[in-house]
Formats: sequence, C-alpha cells, structure tokens
Amino acid sequence: METLEVDLAERSYPIFIGQGLLDRADLLAAGLPQPRVLIVSNETVAPLYLTRVRAAFAAAGVEALDVVLPDGEHFKDWPTLNRIFDALLGHRCERATTLVALGGGVIGDMTGFAAACYQRGVPFIQVPTTLLAQVDSSVGGKTAINHPQGKNMIGAFHQPQRVLIDTDSLATLPAREFRSGLAEVIKYGLIRDLPFLEWLEVNLDALLARSPAALAEAILRSCRNKAEVVAADERESGERALLNLGHTFGHAIETGAGYGVWLHGEAVAAGTMMAAELSQRLGWIDASLVARIGRLFERCSLPVVGPALGEERYLELMAHDKKVQGGRLRLVLLRAAGRAVVSADAPVADVAAAIAARCR
Ligand code: NAD
Ligand code: MG
Repeated sequence: METLEVDLAERSYPIFIGQGLLDRADLLAAGLPQPRVLIVSNETVAPLYLTRVRAAFAAAGVEALDVVLPDGEHFKDWPTLNRIFDALLGHRCERATTLVALGGGVIGDMTGFAAACYQRGVPFIQVPTTLLAQVDSSVGGKTAINHPQGKNMIGAFHQPQRVLIDTDSLATLPAREFRSGLAEVIKYGLIRDLPFLEWLEVNLDALLARSPAALAEAILRSCRNKAEVVAADERESGERALLNLGHTFGHAIETGAGYGVWLHGEAVAAGTMMAAELSQRLGWIDASLVARIGRLFERCSLPVVGPALGEERYLELMAHDKKVQGGRLRLVLLRAAGRAVVSADAPVADVAAAIAARCR
C-alpha cells in the first residue's frame, strides 16, 4: 500500500492506494468521531461492494447505515441529493456521523456536498471505485451537483477525512468508463509532468490491460500531481485552474449533448484537442505535439473531435464556465508538452476556429 498526504494544514488528509483496501477496517474506521457512518452508494456499485464495506465497519464496531441512489450523471441533482438528507434525518444522524462515498465521481461529488451541508458540515470519507474518481474527483474537496443550466454549478469546497483507493475495484469497471478515466490521467502529464506523459506513452498498453502494477503506478502519480496542485491552491485562485485543461470545451460538450450522453473523460479528451488546436493557432505549440496528444487519446479509444453543436452554441455554453471572470473567457492552453497556462488572451475568432476544426 502507498500513502500520500494532501497537505492543507488543519485540513490535511491521507490518500491510501492499494489492493484489497475495501476490507481494511483499520483504514476505514480510524479516527471516526462516533462509531456510526452513513454509506452513500448507487444501484450499480452497492451490489458489488457495499456488503464488504459494511462488514469492514462492523468488524471495527461501527454501525454502518446506507442509502443507495439511482445510477447516473442525470441523478446528480437536487431531488436525488435530498435522499441523502432524508436518510440522515430519518436515522437521526448527528454532526459526528461520518458520510462514506462508495462509488464513482457522481456519488463522491454528491456525498461530499451533502457532507458540506448537513448540519453545516459533517466529516466524510471518499472510497472511489472508478478510475476517474480515483485519480481526480475524490481528491481535492470540490463537491457539487448539476443545474439544468450548468454542470457542477451548485456546490462547496469540503475536504474529506481520507481517501481509500482500492485498485482491485477497477476490475468490474466497464471498458468505456475505464478509458474515460484515462483522459484525466493523461491530463496530468500534459499540464505539469512531462516524465509521466512519457511513462504513459511507454506503458499505455499495460494500463489498458489493467495490469495491477501499471494501474498502481498511474494512480499514484496522478494523485501525487493532484495533491500537489490542491495543496498549493486549494480554492482555485491560481495553479489549480490548470487541472481544467480541456474542461471548458468539455463541459460545453457534456451540457450541449445532454448530461450522460458523453462521459466526462470523453468530453475532456475532445476538449483537450480543441485546447491543443487553439494553442497551435496561437503559435504556442506545433502540429507535432497536437498529433502526439491525439495519438495517445486514440490509443485509449477516446474521441479527438467533439459533436457538431455549432461554434456559436459552444461559445454560449462556454460563457457559463466558472472560469469566466468579468465576462472574459479564461482557457487552459498548452505552452509545451508538460506545461499549461491559463490565458484570457485568445481572440474569440481563434477559439471558434479551433472548435470548428475539431467538430464532426
Ligand atoms: P460515475 O460516478 O457516473 O461512474 C461511472 C459509472 O461506473 C456509473 O454507472 C457507476 O455506477 C459505475 N461504477 C462505479 N464504480 C464501478 C465499479 N467499480 N465497477 C462497475 N461499475 C462501477 O462517473 P465518474 O466518471 O466516476 O465521475 C464523473 C463525475 O465526477 C462527474 O459528475 C464529474 O463532474 C465529477 N468530477 C468531479 C471532480 C471533482 O474535483 N470533484 C473532478 C472530476 C470529475
Ligand atoms: Mg475532470
């Protein structure tokens, strides 16, 4: 097992990465303020893993309640969030009850937001079971639900007590979900870690075959990058925005196509190609780097073009992005392989041209 620390002063917490962690009563139950937890999961993940996690808590003498939500990005909404509050209140849960998110990024984001709100804030533990959640959403304390007019628009910063990543849980993940998670893994290499990007180019086949050693290495290096960025800029006033490479375009794709039609990582891959295309148009990177990025995504069977929504519709959707400041669109662009910057300088005409070049 590997342990990383997210260094945030009094909000610091460990990330545990290894095999068989879902059964580790010691890791799950350590330091609970009260021997009572509410596990939040969904109808897909609960049949696979809930019994084991409940048993681990029971072994540690912890009462484990649960609430099982419907599965899907389109349930990342108010009515479904409210079911967590119904369960908490129905069981008379107190401020010392810990929430446990058992599932992918949707469950993690919703459980975290519920934990931020219930009685003005209760502790929570992330037990991510998708690759995307393990390398990205479970670390860093961003929690949210969607609004019909924008993804993740209603939310809070609320850091977990710890993150338990059981790499074995990826064995049951559908291939399309696994590949979607790889988009965020590749992102870390592109924005700040050239050696990792090169490692990925060499080891991608092993990763696609879900070799335990390759998985462990990729997840560890991804989490290390995420933890460093979050420690440096918890509330996204600077460097953290770089994690959104491809996301402004990607969110437009996700919202424009309808939540759940494009997976997050698929939209990020196509969005990253738009960002790379734009960086090339600005003269910051050359065509060979754009092609190199495209090859990596294509090896993962990830899309390198977005849906043909029309440039105007893209720009309209992108104008809702949380990175918009004073009406100016701020985009994460590439300066080189392994180096990204946030820029508000791209002329709208170039943004539109980059979108048009990467749509079908
Ligand atoms: P998801 O939570 O919808 O999970 C994908 C699918 O896999 C679901 O059907 C789920 O039930 C299923 N699943 C989960 N674990 C499984 C397992 N081990 N075996 C079999 N099936 C399993 O999607 P996701 O990609 O994990 O997360 C996407 C969400 O994360 C989006 O809502 C996105 O906004 C959010 N996100 C948040 C952050 C953040 O910083 N908070 C970062 C990135 C993404
Ligand atoms: Mg993301």
